[in-house]
Amino acid sequence: MPIIEFSNLNKYGNLRTRRFYHPTSNFGINPKGLGPTVIVKLHKYKHKHILPPCIAHFNGKPYIMPGWQEVVEGTTLNDVIHIKPKVKVSRSKTVEVKTKSSSSDIIYTTKYYPDSDKYYCDCPGTWRTRGNCKHIKQMRNDKK
Ligand SMILES: [Zn+2]
Repeated sequence: MPIIEFSNLNKYGNLRTRRFYHPTSNFGINPKGLGPTVIVKLHKYKHKHILPPCIAHFNGKPYIMPGWQEVVEGTTLNDVIHIKPKVKVSRSKTVEVKTKSSSSDIIYTTKYYPDSDKYYCDCPGTWRTRGNCKHIKQMRNDKK
């Protein structure tokens, strides 16, 4: 936790914030030349990306990658909070079962959509049973 965020009022009364790396969390404040201290706190960078952060140097400057967030020299991954953006979960695979009709050569396809937790069957019984034909019942039981 060694990045210190230091905010103080400059001589014009404007709030200035600077961040710098400090090798230990035991930070002794030296207000010399900074005026009255307003805020001293540990700083964590927020890394909003689906990929985990890494720190890379380009032209001598450290950046959190991916994303090109410039950071204070000396920043380590311990100073970075990884915030994963919410992404749509990749669609689960649809379960599909084919059943031959007992009375004819017709093959019925019964499907289960895990994302919406819905069943579908193209047999005539589906309509009669309002989506609760024997194939769907069978599939429900198999899932248990
Ligand atoms: Zn069916």
